[in-house]
Amino acid sequence: MKKYQKLKKLWSMKNGVMMQYFEWNLPDDGTLWKQLKDDARHLHDIGITAVWIPPAYKGTGSNDVGYGTYDLYDLGEFDQKGTVRTKYGTRQELQEAIAELHRHDICVYLDAVMNHKAGADRTEKCMAYPVDPDNRDQPLAEPYEIECWTGFDFPGRGDKYSSFKWHWYHFSGTDRNEADGKNGIYQIVSEGKAWSIGVDTENGNYDYLMHSDIDLNHPEVIAELNRWGIWVARELELDGMRLDAIKHMNDQFVRQFLTTVRSELKRDFYAVGEYWKEDLTALEEYLGHVDYELDLFDVGLHYNFFQASQAGREYDLRTLLDGTLVRNHPTLTVTFVDNHDSQKGCSLESQVEDWFKPSAYALVLLMREGYPCLFYGDYYGMDGTPSPHRGTIDTLLNVRRHYAHGEQELYFDHPSTIGLVRRGDDKHPDSGLALVISVGDEGDKLMNVGTQHAGEVWHEVTGNRSETLTIGPDGNCVFPVSGGKTAVWVKKPEEEQQAT
Ligand code: CA
Repeated sequence: MKKYQKLKKLWSMKNGVMMQYFEWNLPDDGTLWKQLKDDARHLHDIGITAVWIPPAYKGTGSNDVGYGTYDLYDLGEFDQKGTVRTKYGTRQELQEAIAELHRHDICVYLDAVMNHKAGADRTEKCMAYPVDPDNRDQPLAEPYEIECWTGFDFPGRGDKYSSFKWHWYHFSGTDRNEADGKNGIYQIVSEGKAWSIGVDTENGNYDYLMHSDIDLNHPEVIAELNRWGIWVARELELDGMRLDAIKHMNDQFVRQFLTTVRSELKRDFYAVGEYWKEDLTALEEYLGHVDYELDLFDVGLHYNFFQASQAGREYDLRTLLDGTLVRNHPTLTVTFVDNHDSQKGCSLESQVEDWFKPSAYALVLLMREGYPCLFYGDYYGMDGTPSPHRGTIDTLLNVRRHYAHGEQELYFDHPSTIGLVRRGDDKHPDSGLALVISVGDEGDKLMNVGTQHAGEVWHEVTGNRSETLTIGPDGNCVFPVSGGKTAVWVKKPEEEQQAT
């Protein structure tokens, strides 16, 4: 077993939870790192064991969410792009936040954008031709000279940390010809240069996503990005990375990047990749191509949640896990409900409707499989509007830690009402739970929580139901749920039982 998989096993035994600590519409006020530092103890207390932080390096301006990456080595330290800080604060504040998170046993994963660069310092001339956006293998003209934004000198940083300067030949494509002011997808032409292999096949070849596309087959680029990965992991004492846009990156670059960083660091280094595709086969093939060196987000499960929330009572809940990564590769999957791209108004908009979010979170937080990721927007809110789900998520996180242990059985046997049980284990006193989800009318489900729970009095903890239930001598019980809601049943504490 690979070393980092051993670490993952440890986390799953502790019922670890990752939190994506940002949403798209945070204010451009440079306060996120300070907020995160002040929040570390609270995050620990609610059961967060790792935080995925946004791209922490200089983008096209202080208002850049981070994906318009300009300088990977500028962590809010140099006066570049009109600002020293990033959208989230300064390097000093970032390091203080990470130290505080580590003091509270919370791992830190950095969002790593290695597919493209933006905000070049100057234009350069090179040969290129525009391609058909729907078929990137189809040139729209013979090669001609263009003037493109590919010169990165980093005048504000100079040679500190790295003397590498980027030029047109480190890129495979770009989005604008300054000479004639035209935008498009330009494939850069040079001997041996091509769109990369080992990328998604959508649009013919999906190497190009946006801005200036980094040529991950160029030996100087590979060496520089590897050097950066090792540098940033050491400088920030990172515990892992979330790799952005890997669908558009040579899979063999990703594989060697992770093995190189891990072998240099000589310690565990977690990785999860964003391969935004609903197609399970594509995700499974990708995992094979990278030799199972990283986890993937379960995009299929997200879309199932989205569709269930759209369809309501028309949705067949028995299919909720169909086509999901978590069902086939439970130890290589990060489960999530929404993120900064799926939230309303963003590039991959598919936000799960509010009424279904408690059910979606209940499933990812209480089922045995997967490494759940809690979205900042669902906990704290989006665009300045507080989330209505925080209280429910607090409850579910608490249930995850104390009750979501032991053997599991799924009861995905009715189109409108499904359930699952965790039977508990000896290491966690009073553990075990019953979850019921409805997209239709009020319902109930006969489930078995094990004879070890016979005679116990259980209650519902999300506020959905007020009655108590007594587990039968055979471990069976009928667990009710209100229409269109979720119900989470656990053993009622002894002292509360006597009080009622
Ligand atoms: Ca690419």
